[in-house]
Amino acid sequence: MDDLLARHRAVMPNWLALYYDEPIEIASASGRRVTDRDGTTYLDFFAGILTNAIGYDVAEISDAVRSQLDTGVLHTSTLYLIRKQVELAEKIAELSGIPDAKVFLTNSGTEANETALMLATTARRSEQVLALRNSYHGRAFATVGITGNRGWSASSLSPVKVSWVHGGYQFRSPFKSYSDADYIKACVADLRDIIETTTSGDVACMIAEPIQGVGGFTAPPDGLFRAFKEVLDEYGILFISDEVQTGWGRTGEHFWGIQAHDVVPDAMTFAKGLGNGLAVGGVVARGSLMDTLNANSISTFGGNPVSSAGALATLNYLLDHDLQANAAKLGSRLIAGLRSVAERHPVVGDVRGKGLMVGIEFVGPEGEPNAAAAAGVLEETRRRGLLVGKGGLYGNVIRLAPPMTLTEDELEEALGILTASVEAVSA
Ligand code: PMP
Repeated sequence: MDDLLARHRAVMPNWLALYYDEPIEIASASGRRVTDRDGTTYLDFFAGILTNAIGYDVAEISDAVRSQLDTGVLHTSTLYLIRKQVELAEKIAELSGIPDAKVFLTNSGTEANETALMLATTARRSEQVLALRNSYHGRAFATVGITGNRGWSASSLSPVKVSWVHGGYQFRSPFKSYSDADYIKACVADLRDIIETTTSGDVACMIAEPIQGVGGFTAPPDGLFRAFKEVLDEYGILFISDEVQTGWGRTGEHFWGIQAHDVVPDAMTFAKGLGNGLAVGGVVARGSLMDTLNANSISTFGGNPVSSAGALATLNYLLDHDLQANAAKLGSRLIAGLRSVAERHPVVGDVRGKGLMVGIEFVGPEGEPNAAAAAGVLEETRRRGLLVGKGGLYGNVIRLAPPMTLTEDELEEALGILTASVEAVSA
């Protein structure tokens, strides 16, 4: 293991951060559990968003992928018709709720957002974009520019001109103590001011995560994006919802995160959990917006038959087993359980989220970000057999996003470990 860590450090870039003082190598997995190279098994409360929306070693997914492999056709390129790709696109178009929707498949969320930006800026003939502070949208040239989080903005030389809007992260905003209605009013006033004072008015689009993922699972009040959309419509500005973390029923109450705001976006981007471990992402947009490009384009691997077969099987599994309902039910139990931990431990400043997307923000005595506590909980939970995520602008948020097939027993097990770990860092 140490050997692999040293080899990783020697040959991989130093900006590829690894979790844990002693990073783990996952050797096998099943259900919601992974086993590392040393034989230690962990309950995985972070894979749900990152990779495995419905858990590990799901027979329906393996069978779908295997039967594609058995044809001998791993891929042919988008120059030929690919049945699984078309079927997947049809399914996503139908689920999107976007009128006349068309779908373009990619290999990642970054590439999906790059594509959406290219569509919006081309359609509007403008390189001006509105993005939210504390956002994360990807690691490539344009998407890094619309990422409002210094820790992840590796380059500042982006080709887009960005104006930063308040809204995603109330807990550390100037409007922290406002009621939901007053918060929405203040953010809308800010949005108008930003459009009027920092742009030339002909902005291409706003892009936003309905719940900020890397930013620490911050969930703005329902209705914020409805109010934003009304302003955007006045200026003809397009709205893109980045559903890379919030899609597929994870938020419990809706299939897409943005539906909590009663908004139909011009485009949505997606990736991560869709392939349940396979590389697939994409954009779904109004047909007229999707068809705005008038030169040819190609994606060598986007929507290849293996990834598309796995993604289709994942979507069918999610829908057939109504995992959205499971996310709603277990998510509210998780939030309630953690709020009772917060009452006993002032180091927990905020418990928030929706469905199985729950963030715990750690604070110091004056309410300041407490990154040490979050780092401590990351290590403590691991020692006790639970993998969780970390995030937030200040690295002081623990993020919980288990596969949506989570059971009640696993939920109780995780709550017990989280409670003991918070107690340990509070002591
Ligand atoms: N958008 C959001 C909201 C994300 O969380 C991420 C990944 N953390 C991305 C885009 C980029 O996705 P990928 O890592 O697949 O490029």
